[in-house]
Amino acid sequence: MRKVLLPILAAICVFVIGVFILNMQLWYSSSMDALGGARYAAKNMDNILNEAFQATGTAKRIAEKKCDLESQYQLGTEAALRPHLRTLIIIRQGKLWCTSLPGNRILLKQIPEIPDTNLLLASAQNTVNEIPVLLYQTQTQTHTQTSRIIVTISGVHIRGALNVPLKGVTYSLRVGDKVLGLLADVTDFTASAQQSGQVNSAKYPFSIIFEQPPLFSLKRLVTNGLGILIFILLISVAVAYAIDKYLNKNDTPEETLRRAIDKGEIVPFYQPIVDGRDGTLRGVEVLARWKHPRAGYISPASFIPVAEKSGLIVPLTQSLMRQVAANMNSIASKLSSGFHVGINFSASHITSPTFVQECLRYRDSFSRNDLNLVIEVTEREPLHVDDDLVQRLNTLHENGFVIALDDFGTGYSGLSYLHDLHIDYIKIDQSFVGRVNDLPDSTRILDCVLDLARKLSLSIVAEGVETKAQLDYLNKNNIVFLQGYYFYKPVTFTEFILILLSKPKVEVFVE
Ligand code: C2E
Ligand code: CA
Ligand code: CA
Repeated sequence: MRKVLLPILAAICVFVIGVFILNMQLWYSSSMDALGGARYAAKNMDNILNEAFQATGTAKRIAEKKCDLESQYQLGTEAALRPHLRTLIIIRQGKLWCTSLPGNRILLKQIPEIPDTNLLLASAQNTVNEIPVLLYQTQTQTHTQTSRIIVTISGVHIRGALNVPLKGVTYSLRVGDKVLGLLADVTDFTASAQQSGQVNSAKYPFSIIFEQPPLFSLKRLVTNGLGILIFILLISVAVAYAIDKYLNKNDTPEETLRRAIDKGEIVPFYQPIVDGRDGTLRGVEVLARWKHPRAGYISPASFIPVAEKSGLIVPLTQSLMRQVAANMNSIASKLSSGFHVGINFSASHITSPTFVQECLRYRDSFSRNDLNLVIEVTEREPLHVDDDLVQRLNTLHENGFVIALDDFGTGYSGLSYLHDLHIDYIKIDQSFVGRVNDLPDSTRILDCVLDLARKLSLSIVAEGVETKAQLDYLNKNNIVFLQGYYFYKPVTFTEFILILLSKPKVEVFVE
């Protein structure tokens, strides 16, 4: 388990760290961009206010003289020639003294109660054209009076200065506790996440405020870092692969098999069992195959012995039982009543404490209850028959299971237990069937084996039928259930479905 988890965890760690670094890098550069944009907007505003400062110089000189047509003309010229200025106003003793507009008018609805600040944002309500303005105010002391010189700057120019072409960041001008953004009127400043960044002008009492980019943004990662994100993903997979390779380089066959079982690489193949008289499908034998990622399908001969020796045969067979039940349930409507589904069980599994429970659970996992679930017990291995074993298999028989004795005739344990155990049928080993050919003597051993089976009143399935001669012999001897390459090789589940849906092979009929 550790060997499976470790590469996955390592891959997740590499991916998370990679994404973290990429995110911080993108956050830093977008923060720098946002800051750069704010500085740019502040510089634009400084340039505009520089115009106001210079125009104030002209207004100061006028304030020292008198407000006549010539003075108004000079103020008007000053406002007209400076690209961003709207009007110049001189106020004396709280009253309008001189303006750049003809007739000494102003474009403000009323002269605001101006505090002694250098800058003031006046909202749209205070202007005749309902566009907010920025007021730049300077006090000047002439020989007799104090005058205030006010230069007004239209919100249109301010918004032009704030309109930095930077995707996703908007800038606003803050003067005191008032704010003017790209849209809407002047508002009160409230410290919020939306306005978390601020750049102050070094020359004038205003600042540019903006929203700091969020620390983490999925959208930013995907739009600005998709290529690197894919690269990080590939690196993570490569790390997992390398660690997996390293951890498994010294694996024992048991460890390799254990992982294969965990990964679901041990899959069932199905070898059809047919009725030799008409070729109809009567059942299947489940045969384990190792679906190796590189080596392809591996024969059970190379891993069943390892599984039996290490005890892995139990989880291996359990995994097959689950897969077989799921496979059969998915084609349940296509199976004939009494269809045989045989699974091979090793002796060590049959004698394990949970065997009967496992089989009952396996039976209950089938959606059809009229199938013949066959337990194939091999005689090839020593089977220690005692009361416990007899009781187990008989319990299963009573619970609807069919017990088949596999590889009949090759056994170690003699025939004594055939009296005690309830065996439903025997499977004649392919080594006996394989000897049968056209020569009359070739059937001698098989004759004896069949004779013995008949004397013991056992039903028979013949395995390893490869030739027409063998088929004819078995048909003549009334052996109905046959299995072998003459009919079908063991096949994948998908291939088995195709066989199930096709017509029986006509050439199996006896002449
Ligand atoms: P078996 O139970 O006697 O299975 C029959 C074997 O004969 C299968 O070999 C099958 O592919 C092969 N066979 C079928 N028809 C013919 C034929 O016409 N000619 C020839 N030459 N061979 C034929 P396979 O699949 O390689 O399995 C070998 C053995 O491995 C099985 O012998 C069985 O003892 C064991 N085995 C397979 N799957 C499992 C399993 O899930 N659990 C256990 N415990 N043993 C299994
Ligand atoms: Ca078998
Ligand atoms: Ca067999």
